[in-house]
This record gives sequence, C-alpha cells and structure tokens, in this order.
Amino acid sequence: MTAIDAALTEAKSNFAAKRPITRQLHDRAANVMPGGNTRTVLYTAPFPIRVAKAEGSALTDVDGHRYLDLLGEYSAGIYGHSHPKIVAAVRAALDVGLNFGAHHGKEIELAEVLTGRFNMELIRFTNSGTEANMMALCAARCFTGRSKIMPMNGGYHGGTLYFSHGASPINAPFDCVLGHYNNVSPTRDLIVSNAKDLAAVILEPMLGGGGGITASPEFLQMLREETSRRGIILIFDEVMTSRLHPGGLSAALHVEPDLKTLGKYIGGGMSFGAFGGRRDIMELFDPGRPDALPHAGTFNNNTLTMTAGHAAMTDIFTPEACLELNARGDRLRTALNDLFMHYQVRMTALGRGSMISIHPVSGSVTIPEELQKADKQLRQLLFLDLLDQGIYIAERGFMALSLVVTDDDCKKLVGAVERHINQRRELLV
Ligand SMILES: *Cc1c(COP(=O)(O)O)cnc(C)c1O
Repeated sequence: MTAIDAALTEAKSNFAAKRPITRQLHDRAANVMPGGNTRTVLYTAPFPIRVAKAEGSALTDVDGHRYLDLLGEYSAGIYGHSHPKIVAAVRAALDVGLNFGAHHGKEIELAEVLTGRFNMELIRFTNSGTEANMMALCAARCFTGRSKIMPMNGGYHGGTLYFSHGASPINAPFDCVLGHYNNVSPTRDLIVSNAKDLAAVILEPMLGGGGGITASPEFLQMLREETSRRGIILIFDEVMTSRLHPGGLSAALHVEPDLKTLGKYIGGGMSFGAFGGRRDIMELFDPGRPDALPHAGTFNNNTLTMTAGHAAMTDIFTPEACLELNARGDRLRTALNDLFMHYQVRMTALGRGSMISIHPVSGSVTIPEELQKADKQLRQLLFLDLLDQGIYIAERGFMALSLVVTDDDCKKLVGAVERHINQRRELLV
C-alpha cells in the first residue's frame, strides 16, 4: 500500500463514519438505481453526499453537515440556491400554467435577450445542452450534405457526445474524426484530409469538464480559417463558457463560430438548452418551408424555463454582474496558484473567470493530454479533505462560483486548501 493509498483509505473511512444516514440512503438507492445513481458525475467513493436542503451558497446533507457550495451545480447554479427573483419567476409561471401545447409570449422574450446578448441571428430551444449539441451537429450535417464531425479530444458536449480519453462507448454513432485541442498543425491536417466529408467542427472555447484549458488564439484562428475556406460549420459549445463574458467566451476571444450552443445556468436553474447562430443554417428549421427540418421536444418552450430564464438573464445575471463574478474568480485562481507556488507543491489551478479547476499537476498546462495522466487518488483526497472542512467542489477539482459566493468564502477555500497542503505535504511535492 502506497502512502497515497493509505491516506485515501483513511479519508474515506472518516467520511463514512460521519455519515450513517447518508450511507443508509445510498444502500436503499442502490436497490433501485445502478450504484444508487442516476447522474454519473455525482457519484463519488465511498458514497456521495446526499443533500437535504440548499440555501444561498450553503448545502446541508442528510446527516446535518453544512457545506459551502463551490461546485455551483457544474456551472448551472450561477444564481445560488433559491434566488428570490427566480423563485418569484417560477411562481409567476405556475400561475399562468406550465405547458400550453402552444406558443406563448415568454419564449419570444427569452429568445430576444439571448440572440442579442450572444450574437446569434436565430435561436431554438431544447431541454438540455446535450440535445442542443445533437441538434446543432445534425443541422450542420443537413446544411452541408456531409456526414463526418470533428470534436476534440478532451471535449464534452453531453452524455452521448463525450470525448475525454477518446470517445465514450455510449456516444451517439456519429462518424467522428477526433481533433487535438490546442494542437494546431495535426488538427489542421485532419481537417484538410477530411474536408470533403466534414460537416462540422465542434469545441468548447474553454474545456469545462475537461479541466479548464482555454483554446489558444492560434488554434481558434486556424479553425475559423480552415472551416470557412472549406464550407465546414464551426460550432462553439458555450453551454458552460457563455458565463465567462457578457457576450460569451467567443466574444471575449474575438472569434465568431457559425453556430453556438447554450445550456446550464441560462434557464434560471430549470432544464435548458439552446442552439443558434447563422440565419441561413437556422432557417432550415422554419416549419413553414416545404423542406423544413423537424425539431421536436415536448418541453422546448415550457413556461417554467422560459420565465425563469428571462428573469435570470435580465434581472440577475446582467453584464455587470457577469464581469464582477468573473473578476472574483480570477482573484481566487491567482490566490490558489500563489499558494501552490509558496509551498512548492505539485498543484495548479486552471480555468478562467468564475470557473476554476484544481489539478494535481505542476507547471503550465495547454493540452488536455497533460491532465488525463494526473493522479486520480490525489484528486479524491483533496475532494474528501475539503468536504471534511465543509467545502463542496467536484471530485475532479472543478468549481464554478455562484453570484452569492463572497470574498470571505473564497478566503475560506484558500485556507482549507492550505490545511490540505500542510497535512498532505509529502504526497504533493
Ligand atoms: C453540461 C454540458 C453539456 C450538456 O448539457 P446537459 O444539459 O447536461 O445535457 C454540454 N456541453 C458542455 C460544455 C457542458 O458543460
């Protein structure tokens, strides 16, 4: 048994000993759901925390432990829990009715706000980011009359569009050519050699789930040039990254794709997804056309999402609030990296603005392959050590600050990470 094994075994048994009710409920859940789980990313060993109540930036689990929530629902929980303006919007939606099976006014209002803010000519709504990406990819295939798509190694576009460590076995059966994130010339070569079959290139302008690596200007410029030249549709998955700048990350990086996808926080915390962009592509979905592409979805324009999303984007996550939140995140990331430098430990904080990922690697990281070999046990140890100090992040080290996280909360995290370093020093150098 290595020193890391021993530390982790002890941290897990400490975690379990403090959570008898959580364990009981986990066992019960496992009778009816595989592994007691219905969303893989939420599973952590020995068993995940189980929340009884959430408020503002606080979670309370079923055993009564309180946590500062820095996970922020993997970036979807940007408003904090039960924001009064969201609660009011949801109440208002309940009063008019949930699903009409018909058009209504709120969907226009939300579409107007989003197309304006994220520079899209036309937009359509879905129920999830996964669906938005599926629709954008299929639209690109129909528009170009080509079949292949190019995602990037390390990219995540939903449960059936997952390309970390290669392609997931449950991916949708697209004919994929896997690009190399931030690696200009091999990716250019793949685009050139597949050009006549390639319908779309899809990527996150910053890898979110993939660890917080931002696309380099040279890489994005190459993709924009090569796709434009060859009639390939460039799709930016901004499901996470749209929160990093008032106009989305593509605006901050000054590269405009042909299509964008949105999701997560934009629905105010309700199920949400959207895809949109160039008019000539999106117009294919105009049902008044004889050759229209169909786009179904029972809940696409449900009033709960449309109303909460509109309130959230106009009254809470204003451009000013967006800038302030991301500045706070930048300060926190700097504070963490200063700490790692000070203690000379093999840790680094990546990301941008309000999205931060702590990794057990040192030095600068520019391609996802450098993260894929990081020690998973060290990630688990940090996760459990932070839980023990009342802080909740993702096991993979991911955090997404919500608007109710304060500078004091950020200090609390830095202090907790410092205690982790002091306690585990010999494992981290
Ligand atoms: C979460 C996420 C998705 C999938 O969105 P769901 O609503 O969970 O289906 C797609 N792309 C990115 C970049 C994401 O972070």
